[in-house]
Amino acid sequence: MTSARKRCTVLLTFDFDAESSKVAKGLTSPTPISQGQYGARVGLPRILKLLAQYEIKATIFIPGWTAERYPDLVRQIQAEGHEIGHHGYTHVTPVTLSREEEREQLTKGFAALNQVASVRPKGYRSPAWDLSNHSIDLFKEFGFEYESSLMGDDFQLYRIGTEDGSPGLVEIPISWILDDFVHFEIVENGVGLANPASVYEIWAGEFDGAYAEEGVFCLTMHPQVIGRYPRIRMLEKLIQYMRGHAGVEFTTCAEAVAAWRKNNPTGTN
Ligand SMILES: [Zn+2]
Repeated sequence: MTSARKRCTVLLTFDFDAESSKVAKGLTSPTPISQGQYGARVGLPRILKLLAQYEIKATIFIPGWTAERYPDLVRQIQAEGHEIGHHGYTHVTPVTLSREEEREQLTKGFAALNQVASVRPKGYRSPAWDLSNHSIDLFKEFGFEYESSLMGDDFQLYRIGTEDGSPGLVEIPISWILDDFVHFEIVENGVGLANPASVYEIWAGEFDGAYAEEGVFCLTMHPQVIGRYPRIRMLEKLIQYMRGHAGVEFTTCAEAVAAWRKNNPTGTN
């Protein structure tokens, strides 16, 4: 790590869905279930090994349902110093839920992570990256500090939920282009199953933008997707590329939000 001033923050984030994302879509036959299990059996261990090797702390969003099925992995994530984020309970999109059902998902997600690892997440990421009209109110009710499911910026954090005069919360914007699932897993109309080298070019180009504009580079990845061997090696190459720039800091979402709040104590930016 260089002693130069900080110029860019890198957030490596992983959504540890395991089978939950399949079950939520009704894909409960053995093969899609096994695809989810691959994330726990192979993908996450490879990721944790890579992060340890480069001494990087990441943020891992976990549905409560998954935490209950893989308590040892959740405790390992915590023991290795990574941040644990809220990712709903059963990986259903909030848009399909009533306000009460959405509140229940949040309550049960908190309860599961508390039960398994005695942790109360500071941040939330929506399963399926969609929020309902109630979500932001509920986030404030539950005291989340940040949220990461919206696409209103690329390299800068911003505030949401301030319309009522409250301090709201901080948004860590995401993008489909910075999500491994779109590149590698969706096979539709001839796209998907991309060559890792092509995705490297896309992601390195986005990082160059974050670096040039002195912002935040946030990748969203899934153990069952990025965990395949050539993809993990691509991620490693990207880490090395980013590390080669002066003033790049790898950190957790919660730490990035705390630093951002210090520099942006008030206002609606
Ligand atoms: Zn997910």
